Amino acid sequence: MRISIFFTAFIILISCQENSSVLSAQSEKAGSAIDKIEKTDSEWKKHLTEIEYYVLREEGTERAFSGDLWDHKGDGVYTCAACALPLFDSKTKYKSGTGWPSYYQPINRTNVGESTDYKIGYPRTEVHCARCGGHLGHVFKDGPKPTGLRYCINSVSLDFVDRQDVAKDK
Ligand SMILES: [Zn+2]
Repeated sequence: MRISIFFTAFIILISCQENSSVLSAQSEKAGSAIDKIEKTDSEWKKHLTEIEYYVLREEGTERAFSGDLWDHKGDGVYTCAACALPLFDSKTKYKSGTGWPSYYQPINRTNVGESTDYKIGYPRTEVHCARCGGHLGHVFKDGPKPTGLRYCINSVSLDFVDRQDVAKDK
């Protein structure tokens, strides 16, 4: 009897150690660079609609007030239209009056990448999906509190996932 108690305790100890090593591996992964998705232009053309390809892969901009998410008010998460990576939470969406979906911060620092573009003659901070490189829009420093940032994003670069469905996926 005593031996079996020791044996059980030993098994529990072993399984706890396994769990903690899995957890530390996951947290290390979360902190490291995201695994990239790379496709050729023709692969993206098959995967995306014409307007999605123009905005996401050619850094185009949809016309203001033309997208389906600038005035969208659901509770949930906005994901990359190309690869479904979560990018913005509806809790950080606000009415900017620009005609594009606007957020004051991304869902985390890992999922949204930044670069500088000079397309209109002066530098702007371009933002893109960190996993597939898809162009999202730009970030400006005229946003509301608490960050003072305005992530000005194309509707066609995003899909919306309701909060209840986000919880189911986990
Ligand atoms: Zn993506």
